[in-house]
Amino acid sequence: MIRAFLKKVGILPNSAVQSGRGPRIIPRSEHGISRKNISENALKVLYRLNQHGYEAFLVGGGVRDLLLGLHPKDFDVVTNAKPEEIRRVFRNCRLIGRRFRLAHVYFGHDIIEVATFRGKTDDCAEVVHSAQGMILRDNVYGTLAEDVWRRDFTINAIYYNIADFSLVDYVGGFADLKAKRMKMIGEVEQRYREDPVRMLRAIRFACKVNFSLSKELTEPMTKLKDLIGHVSSSRLFEEVLKMFHSGAARAVYDHLIDYDLFGQLFPASYQSLQQTTYPMDALLKIVFHNTDMRIQQQKPVTPAFIVAALLWYPICIRAQHFLDEGLPLFPARMQAIEEVVQEQIRRVSIPKRIIQGAREIWLLQMRLNKRYGKRAHLLMAEPRFRAAFDFLELRAQAGEGREIDALTQWWQAYIAGDATKRRALVKALSAVRR
Ligand code: ATP
Ligand code: MG
Repeated sequence: MIRAFLKKVGILPNSAVQSGRGPRIIPRSEHGISRKNISENALKVLYRLNQHGYEAFLVGGGVRDLLLGLHPKDFDVVTNAKPEEIRRVFRNCRLIGRRFRLAHVYFGHDIIEVATFRGKTDDCAEVVHSAQGMILRDNVYGTLAEDVWRRDFTINAIYYNIADFSLVDYVGGFADLKAKRMKMIGEVEQRYREDPVRMLRAIRFACKVNFSLSKELTEPMTKLKDLIGHVSSSRLFEEVLKMFHSGAARAVYDHLIDYDLFGQLFPASYQSLQQTTYPMDALLKIVFHNTDMRIQQQKPVTPAFIVAALLWYPICIRAQHFLDEGLPLFPARMQAIEEVVQEQIRRVSIPKRIIQGAREIWLLQMRLNKRYGKRAHLLMAEPRFRAAFDFLELRAQAGEGREIDALTQWWQAYIAGDATKRRALVKALSAVRR
């Protein structure tokens, strides 16, 4: 009866009830995770904690991705050592975080994140909630058996035990992975309310590992989407960046649109999707597709380029508005950039250096049609010219219009041409001008 009650209030998920709450232990011989595929530094941390008498496990994306045959982007370690104790074990360690206190162990540029098991939080003064039910702070420590219920999805809650290389699975995550199933631990709506970022995480993981999202996970999104507005803008930036870099940005974009979350992150971009003057949807689809391709080919991706695409049409629309009000062209554009940027960073705090990169691309878009005399030659020498030209090509590809097609073709010919050809191209412009 107690189990039935706990399940009903969302404390116990179905799988735990079915499995009788004890964990399923999957021995090394029955799973494919090999230490060869775990980062050397993560292994060092795990072994060292173990040698000091602490329990140490890998959990989260590292375990999930290894079981799926993917390359994990990082390895999260969890232990029963408290943050202060972790610091005593590692000299190269810093404690970070307020909302969740964590240890970062440094190996040059590589950082291994080490968390302490979280404990039960019912009626606990250490856990601070907001008026909307969001968890603002939570530093109650516990055991593995308690920690597991605090994780988001079953596929993220499989623990790899460094003591015997077995997997510990309380929530049926191993079976869910095999069945390509995303399942929330606990009651979906309550878990989204505690942390609205879980809605975005649901989408990101489903797209990254190519699982479909169940109705159970997507249905509450429409009702709860406004809660995203209560999440700190810096946390949203971190999540947005992970989405862009997931290798599945194109699919993530479709999902954000389908479940009406895109506007929560990019309100002005969402608004420009509703009008027909500019091909906003086409531009974003191309940019996200190209980003995924670059990640696949292990080429670097520039967030500034994506931000440039997200805000370019909102800026064009805003600039037109100022022009209609009688502002001259240059101030109209500058004011449009400043306003759109300010509004955007209130929601998702995109760092200054990324905004600066995007700004350079926008400013060059505005100069690319001024090609007379020495201007084309000077433009090509600008450090951001290549990015700006690539962006122009995307605008043409997205179908912005014939003028942009012609401009793109002109620049393609100019870039490919020798000095004579370039002079001829500029001369032909002057002829048209006359
Ligand atoms: P990736 O690192 O590939 O983005 P991940 O699953 O490792 O994916 P992290 O943000 O690194 O994600 O978190 C590590 C683990 O911590 C998760 O797998 C999950 O178990 C838990 N976790 C992280 N964020 C949350 C959250 N908002 N709510 C509940 N559990 C979380
Ligand atoms: Mg991780």
